[in-house]
Amino acid sequence: MYSAIASRILLGSGQLGHQEALSILQSSEEEFLPLLDAAYRVRKHFHGNRVHIHVLENAKQGACPEDCKFCSQSKHFESPGGEAPHKEVTELLDGAARAVSAQAKRYCMVTATHGPNARDLKTICDAAKKIKETYPGLQLCASLGFLTDEKASKLKSAGIDRFNHNIETSENNFPNVVTTHTYQDRVATINTAKRAGLETCAGGIIGLGESDQDLVDMAFALREIGVDSIPVNFLNPRPGTPFSQREKVTPRYAIRALCLFRLANPSADIRVAGGREVVLKSMQSLALYPANSLFSSGYLTTGGAEPDSDRQMIKDAGFVIETDLPVLASSKKLPVVQARG
Ligand code: SF4
Repeated sequence: MYSAIASRILLGSGQLGHQEALSILQSSEEEFLPLLDAAYRVRKHFHGNRVHIHVLENAKQGACPEDCKFCSQSKHFESPGGEAPHKEVTELLDGAARAVSAQAKRYCMVTATHGPNARDLKTICDAAKKIKETYPGLQLCASLGFLTDEKASKLKSAGIDRFNHNIETSENNFPNVVTTHTYQDRVATINTAKRAGLETCAGGIIGLGESDQDLVDMAFALREIGVDSIPVNFLNPRPGTPFSQREKVTPRYAIRALCLFRLANPSADIRVAGGREVVLKSMQSLALYPANSLFSSGYLTTGGAEPDSDRQMIKDAGFVIETDLPVLASSKKLPVVQARG
């Protein structure tokens, strides 16, 4: 069945249907490898055997006015996430250097905020210009909360390539996860980024109490919105948040979910994102069959695998790291970036 679905998608003779999508999440153990093979055929058609590494930079940590119940950076919860002021341009440039050393294709600057104020937007734009001067091959992403058309245009002009704004979950489950803004607010900002000519990145988190139907709705919503990139996170419950006691999804469910996102969004960049190490555990390399990219060097508030071990995993599984940057044999060989300006 999954082989036929992949063939149909590759021939352009029909998208993944709702019942088919649900069946992916509820498939038997015997169907696990055929499903993975189908997802891999589609992944390979659009992305070959290449893997993009992305590196995150927490440019402003904590004290966020939003109340996303999974997030240790919300000011609404007593989570030991901590706070830190917005990083300066020189610090963001240093982060870009670390991304280059990790053989990253993309470097993503993220702030915990409702949206960027004028000063913070200028810092991100100034950093983007300097990073593009220093590392022209490094793709730049930003995740800064809600945007206006004017702010989106400034980011585009400064050299930001892609804007991230996750929908987090299905429209139906969204009010159970966030109350300070709506699902439609999030979709509106994704469309604002598109209008400015930015590539768009939007995904969510699996394990927020959603049903299988919710997860299917989310995968199809992203298809309808038409995003370039989909980060698929897995809840790693944070102490002090309302979701601190939630169960993590199983590794095999996580792989099935990645297959769903691939078959529903055949050409998108599908990224295995936060929670990879703690949810997938020994099955991490299997995620590269549906997904064509991953975050390395940790996440915004939690650690992750070391870049060297991620690169080794990619090579061991027979994939090739895609980067437009010079290959550095070891992070120790990274040239020190001098702060400027
Ligand atoms: S997920 Fe983002 S918007 Fe929501 S509380 Fe955390 S930092 Fe704020």
